[in-house]
This record gives sequence, C-alpha cells and structure tokens, in this order.
Amino acid sequence: MMEAFLVRDGVLHCAGHSLERLAQEFGSPLYVYNGLAIKDRFQGLKRAVSPVDAEVFFAVKANSTLAVLQLLAGQGAGMEVVSGGELYRAREAGVPDERIVFDGVGKTAAEIRYALEGEIRFFAVESVGELNRLNQLALEAGRRARVSLRINPDIDPQTHRYISTGKRENKFGFDFGGIRAAYDHADELDHLEVVGLHMHIGSQILSNQPHAQALAKIRPLVEELKERFANFRYLDIGGGLGIRYRPEDQPLIPERFAEAILPELAGLDLQVMLEPGRYLVGDCGVLVTRVEYVKQGGAKRFVVCDAAMNDLMRPMMYQAYHEIVPVRATGGERTPVDVVGAICETGDFFAEDRPLEAVEPGTFLAVMCAGAYAFTMASNYNTRPRGAEVLVDERGARLVRRRETWADLIALERPYCEEQDERQGF
Ligand SMILES: *Cc1c(COP(=O)(O)O)cnc(C)c1O
Repeated sequence: MMEAFLVRDGVLHCAGHSLERLAQEFGSPLYVYNGLAIKDRFQGLKRAVSPVDAEVFFAVKANSTLAVLQLLAGQGAGMEVVSGGELYRAREAGVPDERIVFDGVGKTAAEIRYALEGEIRFFAVESVGELNRLNQLALEAGRRARVSLRINPDIDPQTHRYISTGKRENKFGFDFGGIRAAYDHADELDHLEVVGLHMHIGSQILSNQPHAQALAKIRPLVEELKERFANFRYLDIGGGLGIRYRPEDQPLIPERFAEAILPELAGLDLQVMLEPGRYLVGDCGVLVTRVEYVKQGGAKRFVVCDAAMNDLMRPMMYQAYHEIVPVRATGGERTPVDVVGAICETGDFFAEDRPLEAVEPGTFLAVMCAGAYAFTMASNYNTRPRGAEVLVDERGARLVRRRETWADLIALERPYCEEQDERQGF
C-alpha cells in the first residue's frame, strides 16, 4: 500500500510536495489530500474483491469535496449519499445516477423528490414509513422507485459505540424479525421495485470477521429474496473498513478482507457492492496547523495551534486518536504536551499528554489521518472560517476549496431590525 505522506530531508511531504511549502503558500489550517494514494486505496480494494466482480462505491459523508468525488468517480467509483445535499454534490461532480445509491434513516419528502428527478440505482430504505412515503412520491412523479431494504444483522462490529450501526439497539435498518414483512409490504406497493438488500454494520472496523459473520447470517435471507423477486440483483454490504490511526493498529489488508468475505458471497450470483468512506480517503489526508504559542500551565505544557476542534471534531466526539507530527522534524527529545486549539472549550484538544518533540511558534504540525470525517464535520464555531483544501496528484498541488473569509461567515444573515437602523440613521 502506497504511503500517502513521507519524510524527505526531515520534512513531511505529500506526493513530492513539502507540507511546509504548501502551508506557506495556501495558509493554515490546511487540509492536504494525496490523490495518488486515494486512487491506490480504491484500486487496491477493487482488485481484492474482483473475484466476485464487486463494485466499490464511496460514502460521500467521509469527504464530500467535489474534486475528491470527481477523482474517485474518474476511477470508476459509485457514490453512496445520505442526504439531498450529498446527492446534489454527487450529481454536480458529474457522477451518473446509475452509480448513486441513497441511504439514510430520515430521508425527507423534498430529498426523495429530488432523487426521483433522475434514475438513481436504488434507495436503501430503513422503515415502513419510508416505503410508504417513497411509493407515494414515486406515484406523484409518475415513476417506479428501485429499493433495497437495509437489514440490521445484529452483529457487534467491535468498534466505538457511537459508530456501531448494526446492532439490535441501533436505530438503523430492519431487524430479522421485521424485514420479511417489510419486503412483503414493498411488494404490494405499485410504485416500488425491489432490487436488493443493504447492510452497513459500523465504522472503523479493523477485523476481517464482522462483515463475514454478518454475511453468513443473512445469506439464507438473501437466497430467499433472490428466489422471490425477479429483479433482485444487488447485495450492498456497506462500508466500515478501518484504517490505521495508531502506530500499533494492525491495518486492514484488502486481500485478507476479501478472503474472509468472498466465501460467503460465492455462488450467489448477485451484483455485490461495497460502500467504504474512511478506508478510501482517511489516511490520504492531513490537517496542517501552525503552532501559535507554547505555554506552560500549572500542571501541563500546552501547544496552542491555529486549528481547533471546529476543524477536526473526532478527538472530541469519539475520543479519537490522531497521530501528530512536526512537519519539519526537530529531532529533539519528546516530552508530553497537550496539543490544543483556540476554542473556548476544555474539550478542544487534538491530543492529551502526547510525547512531542519541542516545537516553536510559527512552525507547523501535521494531524494525520484527516482525510475522512475531518473537513466534512468542520463547523464555524467561535466564528472561525473553515480551512482551505489542497489536492495533490501527478498534476501538482491544487486548491480545491478556498479558505472561508469572515465575510463568508455572515453572508447569509440579515440585520436585526432594518427600520430601526434607518430611524437611527445607520
Ligand atoms: C457512513 C456510512 C458508510 C461509510 O462508513 P465508513 O466507516 O466511512 O466506511 C457506508 N454506508 C452507510 C450506510 C453509512 O452510513
């Protein structure tokens, strides 16, 4: 597997470009993505699952920047979207509807109507209420909507409880007890066409076993559905493939993952789909941040950065670990520090008690594995403009999203009371 970031002459580089130079040119905080590594991840996974002719879709919520979607679509990736906004992005990126699936537990009528303007591959439906709504809206649109139902296979994906989605107590999908009745119901609705089954059991799964276990468990159901519905042809096994956040994590190897799942799929003669997000982009991106201050507190030493929790929510949201390295190695002794942002929240940190080489204000740090669920979760809390994004590939380093300005941040707002402002001579 291609390394997305390499140290050369003591400086961290992305596809031949110094992150220090990129931060000087484009400013910080700066997200930098290695497009070559993204292609490598996609092609590696695609190759590994090729014995069953599986298609790889990309979960847009992991990184929805248009240039990233275009890069992946250019490699042949489909797109898995979970909102009207993501569908809009995928369509704007030029992805054909046939390579888009619409998942999610709370699709609104407006979102469904927008999807029905085209011919997406299918809606992954999660409730009877949604089946009814989709049927009604398809009728109004004079269409039939293709559907797969999402099964909740009640498998423990051995991951953080906030990113487990395939256990009985999670809000997602139909459980075994209810899914046959839901398929019966779908069958009775004239404007729906049953085309498949969908599952997604969780995220950041490093073991090869949970997907295989889930497939073994649902296989009898899949065979039954295939017999029953003439147009049943898709088995979407979701995403959730993990990446190496900690040096000691055992990375998921696509070939091993394929070895675990392929026997469960053999002989089914269905179009298999995967929809990973994190795996395709997570370790292909970093967040580059400038050190503003180094501060000795009463009990701890703090490295205060120009990026903050609004730029990368994961440490605060999931107690996530992200490796942090000086962009230019100093070679000094490592001492424990808290790497924090400027936001007025105690939870605003990237790392606590982390051994780090001594760094000076004005130098840059790279927060690793910020290609997935980083920019897409960024906010403007504390009225902080979101950072710029740069994509690096064989054609060079290009700005794919400019930095927000303060003016951007108030652009949608209206004054409190215009008449009053006028009266007071404003
Ligand atoms: C989030 C999500 C994915 C992708 O998850 P990753 O852990 O990033 O691979 C795939 N499918 C569905 C339905 C999702 O909600």
